[in-house]
Amino acid sequence: LLPGLSAWAASVRATRVWPAAEYTRVTFESDTALRFSQFFVKSPERLVVDIEGIELSGELTGLAAKVGLRDPYIETVRVAYNRPGVVRVVFDLRTAVLPQVFVLPPVAQYGHRLVMDIHPAEPPDLLLTLLRQYERPEAAAPTPAPSAAPAASQKGAAAPAPAQPPPVRAPASETSNDGRRFIIVAIDPGHGGEDPGAIGRAGTKEKDVTLAIARRLKQRIDAIPNMRALLIRDEDYFVPLRDRVAKARKVQADLFVSVHADAWLKPSARGSSVFALSERGATSEAARWMAKKENESDLIGGANLNVRDPVLARTLLDLSLTATINDSLKLGRAVLTELGGVNRLHKASVEQAGFAVLKSPDIPSILVETAFISNPDEEKRLGDGAYQDKMAAAIVAGIRRYLAKNPPLSNRPRVM
Ligand SMILES: [Zn+2]
Repeated sequence: LLPGLSAWAASVRATRVWPAAEYTRVTFESDTALRFSQFFVKSPERLVVDIEGIELSGELTGLAAKVGLRDPYIETVRVAYNRPGVVRVVFDLRTAVLPQVFVLPPVAQYGHRLVMDIHPAEPPDLLLTLLRQYERPEAAAPTPAPSAAPAASQKGAAAPAPAQPPPVRAPASETSNDGRRFIIVAIDPGHGGEDPGAIGRAGTKEKDVTLAIARRLKQRIDAIPNMRALLIRDEDYFVPLRDRVAKARKVQADLFVSVHADAWLKPSARGSSVFALSERGATSEAARWMAKKENESDLIGGANLNVRDPVLARTLLDLSLTATINDSLKLGRAVLTELGGVNRLHKASVEQAGFAVLKSPDIPSILVETAFISNPDEEKRLGDGAYQDKMAAAIVAGIRRYLAKNPPLSNRPRVM
């Protein structure tokens, strides 16, 4: 036994690694709050985290084996005593990073957590990444305005030259309608990473079901000319609710659809439902309860509360929010109508409550509860690829039904 370590020494009971292109998270879970300090070492880049008053357990020494060869940010992790009672964790990094190291109080199934989020120093440009995915030769080169060419060819004509007309410019609508003005749908697979969402009796995790349905949704949307889908997450990692909103706004998404499959108190509850944001109060006690549960994702998934909210709460007072919610309700009704053809409806109307993830002031946003994972029949169906596809098809049909009557404003420029 090392000096300085006594019975009070905390032990790390679990370590988890969540690698993703966006950032890699490493979590230490313990029975008591961990005290830590951190610093950087340059060339090669290393992040060093010293944790006080803990013993070097097998769980800690086993961490290195959990870091995958393909981790985008961490090359290796080394864990050892630095001095009595202080365990030093050294992350050898692949690139320059901006880490966020913070602690989370116990919540739900978790004890105290020390979280190390390793973000890249230069995050990728979301819109650029989205567009590069779809770069096509015909869309890459802008076609010249048809009227411009004849005007140029008349230049050397023998006829007396009229006063030189100004160059003919294609009207703005033409350039935006030549197939390069995409409608972007942000698809948000609920939960992820440390936040499994609801868990069915057979062990199905909501975060896996939502990602599977969202991927099918994306595939179907991308197959529609002039429509493109952005997946808010395409891996098993946690995205704070405010970041989901921010990502959709960064790509100027026209619509936002959050996909869920939650649990209900009674296993007999079943059916699909659709929710929109409410400016004040919820339309029912059930809707209020559902919003409260969904908003807990930040606590369970572990959002760093020290980071400034990119979507200013003040913008919610904007008058445009009322109009956006009206559009969200229309979108919700259209999707609900289509879902009725695939599953029974839990509620025949779109419900409203204070869902944090639906708070884009300028993007019509809905949250779709595809089915109840707490219902054994529905849990089984949710895990079935064919059923997931039916769900995705119904949601896309609903989106198209909405867009047919409510085309997005063309005055929102998007340079492609
Ligand atoms: Zn959920």
